[in-house]
Amino acid sequence: MAQAGIHGLVGVALRKVAPMREWLVFGPVLGNLFPDADNLAVAAATVLKLPTEGLHRTITHSIFTTLLILGIFYLVGKLTKKSRWITFGIGFSAGILLHILLDLIIWFDGVAILWPLPVWVDFWTGVSPAVWFEKLLLPAEFLFFALFFWSLARLQVKTVSEPVIFLRYWILLQIGLFITFTFLVYRMGPVFMTIYGLLYLLSLGLAWGITIRMRDVLDVQTRPAKPVEPIFFSP
Ligand SMILES: [Zn+2]
Repeated sequence: MAQAGIHGLVGVALRKVAPMREWLVFGPVLGNLFPDADNLAVAAATVLKLPTEGLHRTITHSIFTTLLILGIFYLVGKLTKKSRWITFGIGFSAGILLHILLDLIIWFDGVAILWPLPVWVDFWTGVSPAVWFEKLLLPAEFLFFALFFWSLARLQVKTVSEPVIFLRYWILLQIGLFITFTFLVYRMGPVFMTIYGLLYLLSLGLAWGITIRMRDVLDVQTRPAKPVEPIFFSP
């Protein structure tokens, strides 16, 4: 996984090119965040002392799963006669595909893009980052969550007059976690991963929650800049 916040930022950036249609931007933002939910399975397996191989970057990072999800939302849209579900499904699937692409390009690992077929695509074979850098990438998750929330906060200022959610404290919390865990990752033993993993999953859930809460804001057109008031000088 690249940092989840980076995936979220990619989703928000799509706003600039996507046509304005209900849930068409909400879909890719959530779709970009979705595949790394497989870390929940990794966490559950770790707690239950079960093997974790084959749980990450497989089922939720597969083109077949993406097509299945697209089909499900299409059916939901047809059955409920609400086209926004079809729109959401298209956006959500596009978000997953972008996530897969980004994982392939900017992470030092492969992806089972055709799961359940045993095809592991890895552009990084034989490349392993320095240990200090690999460690830094863990707390960097919190930094990118902060940046993702900040991009949503900016969007909110630009689009709606009343904020749907106050993001300032969540941004500060993530910055605090980034600083704390950057300090701890170089000093703590194996227990680091347990505490870090728990807070990472909670932050991922928070990113999901905030994105869902802000679904309508993502679709709102950016407000035009205020016209400059003409200045009249009295003679
Ligand atoms: Zn991923």
